[in-house]
Amino acid sequence: METQKCVLYDRDCIGCMECETCDLDLNKICDNCGKCLDIKDFATIKIDGIYDAEGRVISSGRKRKKR
Ligand code: SF4
Ligand code: SF4
Repeated sequence: METQKCVLYDRDCIGCMECETCDLDLNKICDNCGKCLDIKDFATIKIDGIYDAEGRVISSGRKRKKR
C-alpha cells in the first residue's frame, strides 16, 4: 500500500490532524467557515497540484512551456 505524503511537512502522513486544525482556534477542526480568509468581492486560489486518493500527483499545476 502506498503511503500518503504529509501536506505540511516532508514526511509520510501520521494522521496527526494538524493540517485540519483551525488557524484561529487551535481547539477547533476547520469547518471552512472562512473567518480566516480576507475575502472581498472575489478571491483567487492558487492550486499547487492535484492528487488522486492514493496521493499520486495527477497534475503538478505548473504551466507547460509553449513549443
Ligand atoms: S494529518 Fe498530520 S501528518 Fe497527515 S497530512 Fe495532516 S499534518 Fe500531515
Ligand atoms: S476556515 Fe474557519 S475553521 Fe477553517 S481555519 Fe479558517 S477560521 Fe478556522
